[in-house]
Amino acid sequence: MRIVRFSPAAADPSLELGKDPLFGVLQEETIAVLNGDPLYAGITPSGKLVPFSQVRLLAPVLPRSKVVCVGKNYADHAKEMGGVVPDEPVIFLKPNTSVIGPDDTIAWPAMSNRVDFEGELAIVISRICKDVPKERANDVIFGYTLGNDVTARDLQSKDGQWTRAKGFDTFCPLGPWIDTEFVPTGQRITSTLNGIIQQDAHLSDMIFDVPTIINFVSQVMTLLPGDVILTGTPAGIGPMPEKSVITIAIEGLGELTNKLSNHG
Ligand code: ZN
Repeated sequence: MRIVRFSPAAADPSLELGKDPLFGVLQEETIAVLNGDPLYAGITPSGKLVPFSQVRLLAPVLPRSKVVCVGKNYADHAKEMGGVVPDEPVIFLKPNTSVIGPDDTIAWPAMSNRVDFEGELAIVISRICKDVPKERANDVIFGYTLGNDVTARDLQSKDGQWTRAKGFDTFCPLGPWIDTEFVPTGQRITSTLNGIIQQDAHLSDMIFDVPTIINFVSQVMTLLPGDVILTGTPAGIGPMPEKSVITIAIEGLGELTNKLSNHG
């Protein structure tokens, strides 16, 4: 099942959907509108249907507390960053205020002269959990979406830690939907910048797989429903010129496209 969050502002008024964001289940060209946030209210259809073409998609989840990221989780990327392959996951946080949705614009901050894309598989957590054993990891996953761990690369080097470089507003595009049936195996992941593929790898190239990541992160911090974990980026990162169009794609999961603004 593919769960979307959307603005019905442009929808036919006779559908009486109001103006506030809603959740729904995507059924080809139609969205079955849900009663409330499925993370808290379950999958309860309202009976209303809206054509997909009449809505604007929003980030499919609003992380209530955090976006946890894994750094250097693909050997080739660790190498291109000049580091060695870590023996345990390297984790950091992005604030939930960095989240934007599909087709939203990434704002180039005035403080930075280099803004990079990082295409990543994103895990959406379904329930409060702590110290999750690897074999129970699937019990705490609501589904998967795509993420772009946008990074001000010059500030990442300058600061020696990553809060500023990865924490700007708009630096965490998520979407286009949460797929509750997707199972990461060896699917292809690509990032395409202005029509040219820059990152091209397979999810099986990850150093730490999804159960290992959930086990590790949940030993550090309690995970809450709606928390998101970005699982790291493959080799091929690079800067985006002004007004770039960046598309992250994962085979069988979907595509997430965003634009970059002019230099701020
Ligand atoms: Zn990343």
